[in-house]
Formats: sequence, structure tokens, C-alpha cells
Amino acid sequence: MGKKFLDNETEKSIIHSLRNAGCVFAEDETRLLISEARTSEDLKNMVEMRADGLPLEYIVGYAEFCGLRIEVDRGVFVPRKRTEFLVHQAEALSCSGDIVVDLCCGSGAVGVALAAALGRVELYSIDIDPVAVRCAGRNVTDFGGRVFEGDLYKALPHSLKGHVNILVANVPYVPTEAIKLLPQEARLHEPKEALDGGGDGLDIQRRVAAEALLWLAPGGHLLIETSEMQAPQSFEIFSGAGLTTKVARDEELDATIVIGS
Ligand code: GLN
Repeated sequence: MGKKFLDNETEKSIIHSLRNAGCVFAEDETRLLISEARTSEDLKNMVEMRADGLPLEYIVGYAEFCGLRIEVDRGVFVPRKRTEFLVHQAEALSCSGDIVVDLCCGSGAVGVALAAALGRVELYSIDIDPVAVRCAGRNVTDFGGRVFEGDLYKALPHSLKGHVNILVANVPYVPTEAIKLLPQEARLHEPKEALDGGGDGLDIQRRVAAEALLWLAPGGHLLIETSEMQAPQSFEIFSGAGLTTKVARDEELDATIVIGS
């Protein structure tokens, strides 16, 4: 750790206060906050924010995703560990040089992780929220990606119609009534628009499905995150839109995705 301002007692008391605030990984979080803080005042503020329930990623300004450091601004959906499953499945279906579209990209994590894994792709990331677009803009630049602000496909250049090899999307899928059941961190601090998928949670999936075949290249694939409970409905939505559809699941990550081809 090697921070001059820190002694063992301080460290113990931070672990203690984070534990009391319900942080499951209090020791790991303490270590991270200590390594990010520049002064003891800084550290004190960070610990207070964390104990008040602010997501750790907003405090340090980044999330770890697929081994990458993704910048996450306040007001932007925090990339989840479970979404790494979608990236790995997409990786298996893509090749270097592919045209990749990331809809509802938020911080841009999914597209960036896929681009990082494949080496070279033509990445188009889309979000309707200008705050997310700015954040994603910083994350995609190292990978030659471009971010467009707008409503799903409307934001894409028309020349991509019929040429998208891989379409990835972690669109909001929480049913409106279930938002209040989310953990406090998400409910109080993350943008509701990034979580709320309408009455049954699947409004945006329906809109993605409706135009998917228009944009996908022959042999292209669409991968979209859903929940285990909603998977049968998601399956119906994408197969109903004419895609050969399957559901894939990773128990350990509690991750469920629909793959349409
Ligand atoms: N709460 C869900 C999650 O953490 C929300 C994801 C979403 O709506 N895209 O995975």
C-alpha cells in the first residue's frame, strides 16, 4: 500500500465502516480506495461516499470489465460482471475486421471489450443519453470506435444496413414495477432510463428485434442480455422477428443471453 498517511488502525477502521454500511467486499474495496486516494482527506471523502451507498465505480471513476479499465461517469450505467458472458459469446462468433454495433452502449464497455479481444473491428456504439455518449467516447477511442447519439438504429449510418456482422446490446430490461426491488445502489444512483424496460421489461428488446434483420449482414449474429426469468419471452420476441434464436446461460455469472442469427 505504501501510503504515507495511512496506518493499520486507519485501514481497520475503514474496513469496519464499509462492513457496517453493508459492503460485502469491504477489504477489497478498502484496498482499492486507499490506492486511488491522493490524500487522507481524499480517502475520508471516498469512504464516506461509499458508506452512503454510492457505487464504488462512480467514486474511483472506472469499472473493471473483461480485464479492462472502463471509465464510468456518474449517471452512466455501471458495467456488470455478468455482461462479460455476452462479450465472450460474441467473441466466439466474430472475426477480426467485423462490423460491430453496440446498442444502448452506456459506458461503451461491451463494444470496447469485444474490440479489445478481436484486435481489429469496425465499432459503432450508440446511446440515447448524451452523458453516456461522452463517457463511451473516451472509452472507445483507443479501439478506433465511434459513438453516435440517438435512438437505437436511428443513430446508425444507413450505409450499414445489411452489413452488421455482430450486434451486441445490453438494453434496459427491468420491468418498471421491479425497479423498486433493485439493490439500493442501482435504484438510487444509476440512471433509471438505463434499467427500465417498460411494463414487462422487454419494450426495447422488441424494438431491437423489429429491425434486426434489416441491419444484420448475411450470417451475422445478434447477442442480447436478458434475465433467466424473461428468457422465454425474449426468445419469442427474437424468433418472432424471423431470427434463428437460442438462449445461452452461465450459472456462475447469473447471465442469460439470447443469440439470434
Ligand atoms: N439490474 C440488471 C443487471 O444488473 C439490469 C440490467 C439492464 O437492465 N440492462 O444486470
